[in-house]
Amino acid sequence: MDGIVTSLAASADRRAEANGGRPSREEAEAAVRTLIRWAGDDPSREGLRDTPQRVVKSFEELFSGYGQNPAEVLERVFEDVEGYGDIVLVRDIPFASHCEHHMAPFVGRAHLAYYPSRGVVGLSKLGRLIDVFARRLQTQEALTVQIAEAMDDALKPRGVAVMLEAEHLCMTIRGVQKPGASTVTLQFVGVFKDDPAEQARFLTLVRGHRS
Ligand SMILES: [Zn+2]
Repeated sequence: MDGIVTSLAASADRRAEANGGRPSREEAEAAVRTLIRWAGDDPSREGLRDTPQRVVKSFEELFSGYGQNPAEVLERVFEDVEGYGDIVLVRDIPFASHCEHHMAPFVGRAHLAYYPSRGVVGLSKLGRLIDVFARRLQTQEALTVQIAEAMDDALKPRGVAVMLEAEHLCMTIRGVQKPGASTVTLQFVGVFKDDPAEQARFLTLVRGHRS
């Protein structure tokens, strides 16, 4: 019996390998059926029959970041901005990601700032950049660093500041169960890292519009 299980697993591994290491859609749907059975339900009952298909389809969207390149999102830099060189801050950008420890969602807002040197990017591109990294399995800390580094690489700005505030469902609906707790992470690059006054300016602008 063990031998059969082992050889079935080995042939699934070989199929995954042939497909660039990625399991087939059918294998992914079968895995969802297994999890439903593990949770204690019957994947063949009417309400659940199409669920594996829907879960795999939603995975394609929720984890679409693996197929995207952050450099392409920030490719287009506008150099003609009439000499504008002060801070550009986009705040309260909503995002949703999944923690890599529990695959539970964490949901919140991002505030991104930079001091342009060679030009600016379209503001909507910063929102897309967040999704490239948020739509992967993540920690909030790593997500914060990845966004800051991608902005630094693409824009070569004088400084980058990234702040994320999020609520982690793995902490609010399971585990310690502390609904309402939010996690704040910050990453500073360039002038923001070197100058505490720049950090204070960033935080004041982020908080400024709130009562
Ligand atoms: Zn978690």
